[in-house]
Amino acid sequence: MAVSTSVPELGSFVAGEWRSGTRHADDTNPARPSEVVAQYALADADLALQAIASASTAFPMWRGTPAPARGELLRKAAALIDERAEAIGRDLTREEGKTLGEGIRETQLAANIFRYYAVQALDPDGDTYPSAKANVFLYTRREPLGVVTVITPWNFPICIAAWKIAPAIAFGNTVVWKPAELVPLTAAHLLRALVDAGLPQGVVNLVLGKGSEVGEVITTHPDVAGISFTGSNAVGRALQAKAAAKAKRVQLELGGKNPAIVLADADLDLAADQVARGAFLAAGQKCTATSRVIVEQAVIAPLMERLSAIANTWKVGDPLAADTIIGPVVSEAQLTTVLGFLDRARSEGARVVAGGARGTGDLADGYFVKPTVLSGVKATDTVFREEIFGPVAAVVVADSFDQAIAMANDTRYGLSASIFTRDLGRAMRFADQIRAGVVKVNAETAGIEYHVPFGGMKESSSGSREQGKAAREFFTESKTVYINIP
Ligand code: NAD
Repeated sequence: MAVSTSVPELGSFVAGEWRSGTRHADDTNPARPSEVVAQYALADADLALQAIASASTAFPMWRGTPAPARGELLRKAAALIDERAEAIGRDLTREEGKTLGEGIRETQLAANIFRYYAVQALDPDGDTYPSAKANVFLYTRREPLGVVTVITPWNFPICIAAWKIAPAIAFGNTVVWKPAELVPLTAAHLLRALVDAGLPQGVVNLVLGKGSEVGEVITTHPDVAGISFTGSNAVGRALQAKAAAKAKRVQLELGGKNPAIVLADADLDLAADQVARGAFLAAGQKCTATSRVIVEQAVIAPLMERLSAIANTWKVGDPLAADTIIGPVVSEAQLTTVLGFLDRARSEGARVVAGGARGTGDLADGYFVKPTVLSGVKATDTVFREEIFGPVAAVVVADSFDQAIAMANDTRYGLSASIFTRDLGRAMRFADQIRAGVVKVNAETAGIEYHVPFGGMKESSSGSREQGKAAREFFTESKTVYINIP
Protein backbone atom coordinates (compact mmCIF):
# COMPACT_ATOMS: atom_id res chain seq x y z
CA MET A 1 0.00 0.00 0.00
CA ALA A 2 1.65 3.22 -1.16
CA VAL A 3 1.09 6.15 1.16
CA SER A 4 1.06 9.68 -0.28
CA THR A 5 1.48 12.95 1.63
CA SER A 6 -1.64 12.67 3.75
CA VAL A 7 -4.39 10.69 2.05
CA PRO A 8 -3.48 7.04 1.54
CA GLU A 9 -3.62 5.83 -2.05
CA LEU A 10 -4.86 2.29 -2.15
CA GLY A 11 -4.98 -0.36 -4.78
CA SER A 12 -5.88 -3.99 -5.24
CA PHE A 13 -3.44 -6.68 -4.14
CA VAL A 14 -3.02 -9.30 -6.83
CA ALA A 15 -0.33 -11.96 -7.30
CA GLY A 16 1.64 -10.62 -4.37
CA GLU A 17 1.71 -6.98 -5.52
CA TRP A 18 -0.19 -3.80 -4.76
CA ARG A 19 -1.65 -2.54 -8.03
CA SER A 20 -2.16 1.05 -9.04
CA GLY A 21 -4.62 2.04 -11.77
CA THR A 22 -5.92 4.85 -13.88
CA ARG A 23 -9.46 5.23 -12.47
CA HIS A 24 -9.73 6.40 -8.88
CA ALA A 25 -12.51 6.74 -6.32
CA ASP A 26 -12.67 8.65 -3.05
CA ASP A 27 -13.28 6.98 0.30
CA THR A 28 -15.00 9.59 2.47
CA ASN A 29 -15.89 10.06 6.14
CA PRO A 30 -19.67 9.78 6.72
CA ALA A 31 -19.39 12.07 9.75
CA ARG A 32 -17.74 14.78 7.57
CA PRO A 33 -18.34 13.87 3.92
CA SER A 34 -15.95 16.54 2.63
CA GLU A 35 -13.07 14.67 4.32
CA VAL A 36 -11.39 12.18 1.99
CA VAL A 37 -10.07 9.30 4.11
CA ALA A 38 -8.35 7.50 1.25
CA GLN A 39 -8.31 7.23 -2.51
CA TYR A 40 -8.27 3.94 -4.30
CA ALA A 41 -7.67 2.64 -7.78
CA LEU A 42 -10.73 0.86 -9.13
CA ALA A 43 -10.10 -2.66 -10.34
CA ASP A 44 -11.65 -3.70 -13.65
CA ALA A 45 -12.70 -7.11 -14.94
CA ASP A 46 -9.22 -7.74 -16.33
CA LEU A 47 -7.60 -7.28 -12.91
CA ALA A 48 -10.27 -9.55 -11.41
CA LEU A 49 -9.26 -12.21 -13.96
CA GLN A 50 -5.63 -11.80 -12.91
CA ALA A 51 -6.68 -12.26 -9.28
CA ILE A 52 -8.42 -15.54 -10.13
CA ALA A 53 -5.39 -16.70 -12.12
CA SER A 54 -3.11 -15.84 -9.20
CA ALA A 55 -5.30 -17.73 -6.71
CA SER A 56 -5.47 -20.73 -9.09
CA THR A 57 -1.70 -20.82 -9.48
CA ALA A 58 -1.17 -20.62 -5.72
CA PHE A 59 -3.74 -23.30 -4.85
CA PRO A 60 -1.62 -26.49 -5.32
CA MET A 61 1.19 -24.99 -3.24
CA TRP A 62 -1.15 -23.80 -0.46
CA ARG A 63 -3.17 -27.01 -0.41
CA GLY A 64 0.12 -28.90 -0.03
CA THR A 65 1.37 -26.64 2.78
CA PRO A 66 1.07 -28.57 6.06
CA ALA A 67 -1.87 -27.42 8.18
CA PRO A 68 0.35 -26.35 11.12
CA ALA A 69 2.25 -23.99 8.79
CA ARG A 70 -1.02 -22.58 7.48
CA GLY A 71 -2.13 -22.10 11.09
CA GLU A 72 1.12 -20.31 11.90
CA LEU A 73 0.40 -17.69 9.23
CA LEU A 74 -3.01 -17.05 10.78
CA ARG A 75 -1.51 -16.79 14.26
CA LYS A 76 1.06 -14.22 13.08
CA ALA A 77 -1.62 -12.23 11.27
CA ALA A 78 -3.74 -12.24 14.45
CA ALA A 79 -0.83 -10.84 16.48
CA LEU A 80 -0.28 -8.05 13.95
CA ILE A 81 -3.98 -7.16 13.82
CA ASP A 82 -4.01 -6.98 17.62
CA GLU A 83 -0.88 -4.80 17.67
CA ARG A 84 -2.47 -2.44 15.12
CA ALA A 85 -6.02 -2.57 16.50
CA GLU A 86 -6.10 1.06 17.56
CA ALA A 87 -4.91 2.38 14.19
CA ILE A 88 -7.07 0.00 12.16
CA GLY A 89 -10.10 0.67 14.35
CA ARG A 90 -9.63 4.42 13.90
CA ASP A 91 -9.51 4.11 10.11
CA LEU A 92 -12.50 1.78 10.19
CA THR A 93 -14.42 4.43 12.13
CA ARG A 94 -13.32 7.19 9.75
CA GLU A 95 -14.60 5.40 6.68
CA GLU A 96 -17.60 3.48 8.08
CA GLY A 97 -18.90 5.69 10.89
CA LYS A 98 -19.28 3.30 13.85
CA THR A 99 -17.78 4.63 17.08
CA LEU A 100 -14.07 4.31 17.80
CA GLY A 101 -14.75 1.80 20.58
CA GLU A 102 -16.82 -0.30 18.20
CA GLY A 103 -14.15 -0.02 15.49
CA ILE A 104 -11.35 -1.15 17.81
CA ARG A 105 -13.42 -3.98 19.32
CA GLU A 106 -14.37 -5.21 15.86
CA THR A 107 -10.69 -5.25 14.90
CA GLN A 108 -9.77 -7.20 18.05
CA LEU A 109 -12.57 -9.63 17.24
CA ALA A 110 -11.03 -10.16 13.81
CA ALA A 111 -7.71 -11.01 15.51
CA ASN A 112 -9.50 -13.55 17.72
CA ILE A 113 -11.12 -15.11 14.67
CA PHE A 114 -7.72 -15.59 13.00
CA ARG A 115 -6.35 -17.13 16.21
CA TYR A 116 -9.35 -19.44 16.47
CA TYR A 117 -8.93 -20.77 12.90
CA ALA A 118 -5.18 -21.16 13.44
CA VAL A 119 -6.16 -23.84 15.96
CA GLN A 120 -9.06 -25.19 13.88
CA ALA A 121 -6.58 -25.92 11.09
CA LEU A 122 -5.26 -28.73 13.33
CA ASP A 123 -8.61 -30.32 14.13
CA PRO A 124 -9.40 -33.80 12.76
CA ASP A 125 -10.31 -33.57 9.07
CA GLY A 126 -11.99 -36.93 8.61
CA ASP A 127 -13.27 -40.19 10.13
CA THR A 128 -12.40 -43.84 9.84
CA TYR A 129 -15.18 -46.42 9.35
CA PRO A 130 -15.39 -50.17 9.78
CA SER A 131 -15.57 -51.78 6.35
CA ALA A 132 -17.68 -54.74 5.27
CA LYS A 133 -14.45 -56.28 4.01
CA ALA A 134 -11.73 -57.43 6.39
CA ASN A 135 -8.83 -56.02 4.39
CA VAL A 136 -10.25 -52.61 3.52
CA PHE A 137 -9.20 -49.44 5.31
CA LEU A 138 -12.17 -47.06 4.87
CA TYR A 139 -11.98 -43.39 5.72
CA THR A 140 -13.21 -39.94 4.81
CA ARG A 141 -11.21 -36.76 4.61
CA ARG A 142 -12.14 -33.16 3.99
CA GLU A 143 -10.29 -31.27 1.29
CA PRO A 144 -10.23 -27.60 0.30
CA LEU A 145 -12.55 -26.47 -2.50
CA GLY A 146 -9.89 -24.54 -4.46
CA VAL A 147 -10.29 -20.87 -5.36
CA VAL A 148 -12.96 -19.23 -3.23
CA THR A 149 -14.48 -15.82 -3.85
CA VAL A 150 -15.26 -13.83 -0.72
CA ILE A 151 -17.64 -10.87 -1.06
CA THR A 152 -18.23 -8.72 2.01
CA PRO A 153 -20.44 -5.77 3.03
CA TRP A 154 -19.37 -2.48 4.60
CA ASN A 155 -21.08 -2.80 7.98
CA PHE A 156 -18.51 -5.11 9.64
CA PRO A 157 -15.63 -4.47 7.28
CA ILE A 158 -12.95 -6.42 9.14
CA CYS A 159 -14.70 -9.11 11.15
CA ILE A 160 -16.95 -10.48 8.38
CA ALA A 161 -13.92 -10.58 6.10
CA ALA A 162 -12.01 -12.39 8.87
CA TRP A 163 -14.73 -14.97 9.49
CA LYS A 164 -14.65 -15.92 5.81
CA ILE A 165 -10.96 -15.52 4.87
CA ALA A 166 -9.51 -17.12 8.03
CA PRO A 167 -11.29 -20.49 7.65
CA ALA A 168 -10.91 -20.42 3.86
CA ILE A 169 -7.12 -20.25 4.06
CA ALA A 170 -6.79 -22.31 7.25
CA PHE A 171 -8.37 -25.25 5.41
CA GLY A 172 -6.17 -24.83 2.30
CA ASN A 173 -8.23 -22.70 -0.12
CA THR A 174 -6.95 -19.63 -1.93
CA VAL A 175 -9.03 -16.47 -1.98
CA VAL A 176 -10.21 -13.65 -4.20
CA TRP A 177 -11.70 -11.05 -1.87
CA LYS A 178 -13.96 -8.22 -2.96
CA PRO A 179 -14.85 -5.91 -0.06
CA ALA A 180 -17.57 -3.25 -0.28
CA GLU A 181 -16.55 -0.08 -2.10
CA LEU A 182 -17.19 2.08 0.98
CA VAL A 183 -14.46 0.47 3.12
CA PRO A 184 -11.25 -0.02 1.09
CA LEU A 185 -8.94 1.28 3.83
CA THR A 186 -9.95 -1.35 6.38
CA ALA A 187 -9.57 -3.99 3.66
CA ALA A 188 -6.05 -2.76 2.88
CA HIS A 189 -5.16 -2.94 6.59
CA LEU A 190 -6.27 -6.57 6.80
CA LEU A 191 -4.36 -7.50 3.67
CA ARG A 192 -1.26 -5.73 4.97
CA ALA A 193 -1.39 -7.71 8.22
CA LEU A 194 -1.57 -10.94 6.22
CA VAL A 195 1.30 -9.86 3.95
CA ASP A 196 3.44 -8.81 6.92
CA ALA A 197 2.70 -12.19 8.52
CA GLY A 198 4.26 -13.91 5.50
CA LEU A 199 1.32 -14.55 3.15
CA PRO A 200 2.65 -16.53 0.17
CA GLN A 201 2.00 -15.02 -3.24
CA GLY A 202 -1.51 -15.56 -4.56
CA VAL A 203 -3.05 -17.09 -1.41
CA VAL A 204 -5.26 -14.02 -0.81
CA ASN A 205 -5.95 -11.50 -3.56
CA LEU A 206 -7.78 -8.25 -2.87
CA VAL A 207 -9.92 -6.75 -5.63
CA LEU A 208 -11.07 -3.19 -4.92
CA GLY A 209 -13.78 -2.78 -7.50
CA LYS A 210 -17.45 -2.18 -8.06
CA GLY A 211 -19.79 -5.13 -7.91
CA SER A 212 -21.24 -4.11 -11.24
CA GLU A 213 -17.78 -4.25 -12.87
CA VAL A 214 -15.97 -7.18 -11.26
CA GLY A 215 -18.88 -9.16 -9.75
CA GLU A 216 -19.70 -11.22 -12.83
CA VAL A 217 -16.10 -12.42 -13.32
CA ILE A 218 -15.43 -13.39 -9.73
CA THR A 219 -18.70 -15.29 -9.31
CA THR A 220 -19.00 -17.12 -12.63
CA HIS A 221 -15.41 -17.86 -13.71
CA PRO A 222 -14.81 -21.60 -14.23
CA ASP A 223 -11.83 -21.59 -11.85
CA VAL A 224 -13.90 -20.31 -8.91
CA ALA A 225 -15.13 -23.28 -6.88
CA GLY A 226 -17.08 -21.51 -4.16
CA ILE A 227 -18.50 -18.13 -3.21
CA SER A 228 -19.08 -16.87 0.31
CA PHE A 229 -21.24 -13.74 0.21
CA THR A 230 -22.63 -11.46 2.90
CA GLY A 231 -24.79 -8.54 1.84
CA SER A 232 -28.23 -7.64 0.61
CA ASN A 233 -30.88 -10.10 -0.53
CA ALA A 234 -31.14 -8.52 -3.97
CA VAL A 235 -27.45 -8.88 -4.81
CA GLY A 236 -27.02 -12.23 -3.04
CA ARG A 237 -29.95 -14.00 -4.72
CA ALA A 238 -29.01 -12.73 -8.20
CA LEU A 239 -25.46 -13.94 -7.68
CA GLN A 240 -26.68 -17.30 -6.34
CA ALA A 241 -28.82 -17.93 -9.43
CA LYS A 242 -25.91 -17.33 -11.79
CA ALA A 243 -23.38 -19.27 -9.74
CA ALA A 244 -25.72 -22.23 -9.17
CA ALA A 245 -26.11 -22.57 -12.94
CA LYS A 246 -22.34 -23.10 -13.04
CA ALA A 247 -22.46 -25.70 -10.23
CA LYS A 248 -20.57 -23.56 -7.75
CA ARG A 249 -20.93 -23.89 -4.02
CA VAL A 250 -22.58 -20.72 -2.70
CA GLN A 251 -23.01 -19.44 0.83
CA LEU A 252 -25.23 -16.39 1.42
CA GLU A 253 -25.82 -14.45 4.62
CA LEU A 254 -28.34 -11.72 3.90
CA GLY A 255 -30.72 -9.25 5.50
CA GLY A 256 -32.84 -9.38 8.62
CA LYS A 257 -35.95 -7.83 10.17
CA ASN A 258 -35.25 -8.95 13.67
CA PRO A 259 -37.93 -8.94 16.38
CA ALA A 260 -37.61 -8.41 20.11
CA ILE A 261 -40.63 -9.50 22.16
CA VAL A 262 -41.18 -7.85 25.54
CA LEU A 263 -43.60 -9.79 27.75
CA ALA A 264 -45.52 -8.27 30.64
CA ASP A 265 -43.33 -10.01 33.25
CA ALA A 266 -40.03 -8.73 31.79
CA ASP A 267 -37.42 -6.68 33.64
CA LEU A 268 -38.32 -3.48 31.79
CA ASP A 269 -35.08 -1.60 32.51
CA LEU A 270 -33.11 -4.49 31.05
CA ALA A 271 -35.51 -4.87 28.11
CA ALA A 272 -35.40 -1.17 27.19
CA ASP A 273 -31.61 -1.05 27.42
CA GLN A 274 -31.13 -4.18 25.31
CA VAL A 275 -33.75 -3.19 22.74
CA ALA A 276 -32.09 0.23 22.43
CA ARG A 277 -28.66 -1.36 22.01
CA GLY A 278 -29.95 -3.72 19.35
CA ALA A 279 -31.85 -0.99 17.51
CA PHE A 280 -29.55 2.04 17.77
CA LEU A 281 -25.88 1.01 18.18
CA ALA A 282 -23.82 1.15 15.01
CA ALA A 283 -26.69 3.39 13.83
CA GLY A 284 -28.84 0.27 13.41
CA GLN A 285 -26.63 -1.00 10.60
CA LYS A 286 -26.26 -4.58 11.75
CA CYS A 287 -27.89 -7.49 9.97
CA THR A 288 -28.89 -8.62 13.48
CA ALA A 289 -30.20 -5.18 14.57
CA THR A 290 -33.49 -5.07 16.44
CA SER A 291 -36.01 -3.55 14.10
CA ARG A 292 -39.41 -4.79 15.32
CA VAL A 293 -40.37 -4.47 18.98
CA ILE A 294 -43.43 -6.51 19.93
CA VAL A 295 -44.72 -5.57 23.37
CA GLU A 296 -47.47 -7.04 25.53
CA GLN A 297 -50.23 -4.48 26.07
CA ALA A 298 -49.80 -4.35 29.87
CA VAL A 299 -46.27 -2.89 29.64
CA ILE A 300 -46.44 -0.81 26.48
CA ALA A 301 -46.53 2.55 28.31
CA PRO A 302 -43.59 1.99 30.70
CA LEU A 303 -41.52 0.32 27.97
CA MET A 304 -42.11 3.20 25.54
CA GLU A 305 -41.22 5.70 28.24
CA ARG A 306 -37.90 3.96 28.92
CA LEU A 307 -37.04 3.42 25.26
CA SER A 308 -37.79 7.03 24.31
CA ALA A 309 -35.74 8.30 27.25
CA ILE A 310 -32.75 6.33 25.98
CA ALA A 311 -33.30 7.50 22.38
CA ASN A 312 -33.39 11.11 23.59
CA THR A 313 -30.25 10.86 25.74
CA TRP A 314 -27.77 8.64 23.93
CA LYS A 315 -25.30 11.00 22.31
CA VAL A 316 -25.26 11.12 18.54
CA GLY A 317 -22.09 12.66 17.18
CA ASP A 318 -18.57 12.37 15.84
CA PRO A 319 -17.77 8.66 16.14
CA LEU A 320 -14.17 9.46 17.10
CA ALA A 321 -15.31 11.40 20.20
CA ALA A 322 -15.11 9.42 23.43
CA ASP A 323 -18.65 10.23 24.58
CA THR A 324 -20.42 9.42 21.32
CA ILE A 325 -22.72 6.41 21.43
CA ILE A 326 -24.20 6.60 17.93
CA GLY A 327 -22.31 7.71 14.82
CA PRO A 328 -23.62 8.45 11.34
CA VAL A 329 -25.05 6.01 8.83
CA VAL A 330 -22.49 4.99 6.26
CA SER A 331 -23.37 7.05 3.18
CA GLU A 332 -25.67 9.61 1.63
CA ALA A 333 -27.55 6.81 -0.12
CA GLN A 334 -28.12 5.06 3.22
CA LEU A 335 -29.27 8.35 4.78
CA THR A 336 -31.78 8.86 1.96
CA THR A 337 -33.05 5.29 2.35
CA VAL A 338 -33.55 5.60 6.12
CA LEU A 339 -35.27 9.00 5.88
CA GLY A 340 -37.47 7.58 3.11
CA PHE A 341 -38.58 4.77 5.44
CA LEU A 342 -39.44 7.35 8.12
CA ASP A 343 -41.56 9.37 5.65
CA ARG A 344 -43.31 6.20 4.59
CA ALA A 345 -43.95 5.23 8.23
CA ARG A 346 -45.59 8.60 8.91
CA SER A 347 -47.73 8.33 5.79
CA GLU A 348 -48.87 4.86 6.89
CA GLY A 349 -49.98 6.24 10.25
CA ALA A 350 -47.02 5.68 12.61
CA ARG A 351 -46.26 8.23 15.32
CA VAL A 352 -42.71 9.42 15.98
CA VAL A 353 -42.14 9.13 19.74
CA ALA A 354 -38.43 9.99 19.58
CA GLY A 355 -36.02 11.03 16.83
CA GLY A 356 -37.52 10.70 13.38
CA ALA A 357 -35.15 13.06 11.56
CA ARG A 358 -31.56 13.61 10.51
CA GLY A 359 -29.14 15.38 12.82
CA THR A 360 -29.11 19.15 12.90
CA GLY A 361 -26.69 21.88 14.04
CA ASP A 362 -23.16 20.46 14.24
CA LEU A 363 -24.44 17.24 12.75
CA ALA A 364 -26.13 18.74 9.70
CA ASP A 365 -23.24 18.02 7.33
CA GLY A 366 -22.80 14.36 8.24
CA TYR A 367 -25.12 11.44 7.56
CA PHE A 368 -26.59 11.38 11.07
CA VAL A 369 -30.03 10.01 11.92
CA LYS A 370 -31.46 10.50 15.40
CA PRO A 371 -32.35 7.27 17.17
CA THR A 372 -36.00 6.81 16.40
CA VAL A 373 -38.90 5.15 18.19
CA LEU A 374 -42.14 4.68 16.24
CA SER A 375 -45.46 3.76 17.83
CA GLY A 376 -48.86 3.13 16.31
CA VAL A 377 -47.19 0.83 13.80
CA LYS A 378 -49.29 -1.92 12.15
CA ALA A 379 -47.88 -5.32 11.32
CA THR A 380 -48.64 -4.61 7.66
CA ASP A 381 -46.68 -1.32 7.54
CA THR A 382 -43.59 -1.09 5.34
CA VAL A 383 -41.49 -0.03 8.31
CA PHE A 384 -42.48 -3.26 10.05
CA ARG A 385 -41.77 -5.50 7.07
CA GLU A 386 -38.68 -4.28 5.23
CA GLU A 387 -35.10 -4.08 6.40
CA ILE A 388 -34.27 -0.41 7.18
CA PHE A 389 -30.60 -0.53 8.25
CA GLY A 390 -30.90 2.61 10.34
CA PRO A 391 -31.44 3.46 14.06
CA VAL A 392 -35.17 2.84 14.03
CA ALA A 393 -37.31 0.75 16.43
CA ALA A 394 -40.88 0.15 15.23
CA VAL A 395 -43.11 -0.83 18.14
CA VAL A 396 -46.34 -2.85 17.94
CA VAL A 397 -48.64 -4.14 20.64
CA ALA A 398 -49.44 -7.83 21.07
CA ASP A 399 -52.50 -9.14 22.93
CA SER A 400 -50.88 -12.36 24.03
CA PHE A 401 -47.69 -14.42 24.05
CA ASP A 402 -48.98 -16.55 21.16
CA GLN A 403 -49.84 -13.51 19.09
CA ALA A 404 -46.39 -12.05 19.78
CA ILE A 405 -44.70 -15.17 18.42
CA ALA A 406 -46.99 -15.21 15.39
CA MET A 407 -46.10 -11.57 14.67
CA ALA A 408 -42.40 -12.24 15.16
CA ASN A 409 -42.56 -15.10 12.66
CA ASP A 410 -44.62 -13.13 10.13
CA THR A 411 -41.66 -12.11 7.96
CA ARG A 412 -39.66 -13.46 5.06
CA TYR A 413 -36.50 -13.00 7.13
CA GLY A 414 -35.19 -15.22 9.91
CA LEU A 415 -31.83 -14.01 11.16
CA SER A 416 -32.03 -13.21 14.90
CA ALA A 417 -34.76 -12.77 17.53
CA SER A 418 -35.05 -11.94 21.24
CA ILE A 419 -37.53 -12.34 24.04
CA PHE A 420 -37.61 -10.57 27.41
CA THR A 421 -39.36 -12.50 30.16
CA ARG A 422 -38.78 -14.03 33.59
CA ASP A 423 -40.82 -17.09 32.62
CA LEU A 424 -38.45 -19.90 31.69
CA GLY A 425 -41.24 -21.94 30.13
CA ARG A 426 -42.19 -19.15 27.75
CA ALA A 427 -38.55 -18.46 26.95
CA MET A 428 -38.12 -22.12 26.01
CA ARG A 429 -41.30 -22.12 23.90
CA PHE A 430 -40.05 -19.01 22.11
CA ALA A 431 -36.68 -20.64 21.43
CA ASP A 432 -38.53 -23.63 20.03
CA GLN A 433 -41.09 -21.82 17.88
CA ILE A 434 -39.26 -18.79 16.53
CA ARG A 435 -37.91 -19.22 12.99
CA ALA A 436 -34.54 -17.51 13.37
CA GLY A 437 -30.96 -18.72 13.19
CA VAL A 438 -29.90 -16.82 16.33
CA VAL A 439 -32.19 -16.70 19.38
CA LYS A 440 -31.58 -14.66 22.53
CA VAL A 441 -33.38 -14.63 25.85
CA ASN A 442 -33.14 -11.40 27.89
CA ALA A 443 -30.46 -10.05 25.54
CA GLU A 444 -30.32 -7.92 22.41
CA THR A 445 -30.79 -9.48 18.97
CA ALA A 446 -27.31 -8.29 17.90
CA GLY A 447 -23.96 -9.49 19.21
CA ILE A 448 -22.62 -12.93 18.42
CA GLU A 449 -19.66 -15.05 19.47
CA TYR A 450 -17.18 -16.28 16.88
CA HIS A 451 -16.76 -19.87 18.01
CA VAL A 452 -20.40 -20.91 17.50
CA PRO A 453 -22.29 -21.29 14.22
CA PHE A 454 -23.96 -18.17 12.81
CA GLY A 455 -26.52 -17.75 10.06
CA GLY A 456 -30.16 -17.15 9.28
CA MET A 457 -33.27 -19.09 8.37
CA LYS A 458 -35.78 -18.43 5.58
CA GLU A 459 -34.68 -15.70 3.14
CA SER A 460 -31.92 -14.44 5.45
CA SER A 461 -29.52 -17.16 4.36
CA SER A 462 -28.72 -19.90 1.91
CA GLY A 463 -28.98 -22.31 4.83
CA SER A 464 -25.34 -23.02 5.51
CA ARG A 465 -23.66 -21.67 8.64
CA GLU A 466 -20.56 -19.57 9.16
CA GLN A 467 -18.12 -19.28 12.06
CA GLY A 468 -17.19 -21.85 14.68
CA LYS A 469 -16.77 -25.39 13.47
CA ALA A 470 -19.51 -24.85 10.86
CA ALA A 471 -17.06 -22.98 8.61
CA ARG A 472 -15.22 -26.21 7.75
CA GLU A 473 -18.42 -27.57 6.20
CA PHE A 474 -18.54 -24.81 3.62
CA PHE A 475 -14.84 -24.37 2.88
CA THR A 476 -14.05 -28.06 2.43
CA GLU A 477 -15.60 -31.04 0.68
CA SER A 478 -15.61 -34.66 1.72
CA LYS A 479 -13.83 -37.51 -0.02
CA THR A 480 -14.40 -41.19 0.84
CA VAL A 481 -11.37 -43.46 0.42
CA TYR A 482 -11.40 -47.31 0.23
CA ILE A 483 -7.93 -48.87 0.53
CA ASN A 484 -7.85 -52.55 -0.25
CA ILE A 485 -4.80 -54.15 1.37
CA PRO A 486 -4.25 -57.37 -0.57
P1 NAD B 1 -24.73 -5.18 -0.90
O1 NAD B 1 -25.47 -6.41 -1.30
O2 NAD B 1 -25.04 -3.92 -1.59
O3 NAD B 1 -23.16 -5.41 -1.12
C1 NAD B 1 -22.49 -6.52 -0.55
C2 NAD B 1 -21.25 -6.80 -1.37
O4 NAD B 1 -21.67 -7.25 -2.67
C3 NAD B 1 -20.37 -5.58 -1.61
O5 NAD B 1 -19.02 -5.95 -1.60
C4 NAD B 1 -20.78 -5.16 -3.01
O6 NAD B 1 -19.80 -4.42 -3.70
C5 NAD B 1 -20.97 -6.51 -3.65
N1 NAD B 1 -21.73 -6.51 -4.90
C6 NAD B 1 -22.66 -5.60 -5.32
N2 NAD B 1 -23.13 -5.95 -6.54
C7 NAD B 1 -22.49 -7.10 -6.88
C8 NAD B 1 -22.55 -7.96 -8.02
N3 NAD B 1 -23.35 -7.70 -9.05
N4 NAD B 1 -21.76 -9.06 -8.03
C9 NAD B 1 -20.95 -9.35 -7.00
N5 NAD B 1 -20.84 -8.57 -5.90
C10 NAD B 1 -21.61 -7.46 -5.84
O7 NAD B 1 -24.87 -5.05 0.69
P2 NAD B 1 -24.28 -3.90 1.63
O8 NAD B 1 -25.10 -2.67 1.42
O9 NAD B 1 -22.80 -3.81 1.49
O10 NAD B 1 -24.57 -4.51 3.08
C11 NAD B 1 -25.78 -4.38 3.73
C12 NAD B 1 -26.57 -5.66 3.65
O11 NAD B 1 -25.80 -6.74 4.13
C13 NAD B 1 -27.82 -5.65 4.52
O12 NAD B 1 -28.89 -6.23 3.82
C14 NAD B 1 -27.43 -6.54 5.70
O13 NAD B 1 -28.50 -7.14 6.38
C15 NAD B 1 -26.56 -7.53 5.04
N6 NAD B 1 -25.69 -8.17 6.02
C16 NAD B 1 -25.94 -9.46 6.37
C17 NAD B 1 -25.16 -10.09 7.33
C18 NAD B 1 -25.40 -11.52 7.73
O14 NAD B 1 -24.49 -12.13 8.26
N7 NAD B 1 -26.57 -12.05 7.49
C19 NAD B 1 -24.11 -9.39 7.94
C20 NAD B 1 -23.88 -8.07 7.56
C21 NAD B 1 -24.67 -7.47 6.59
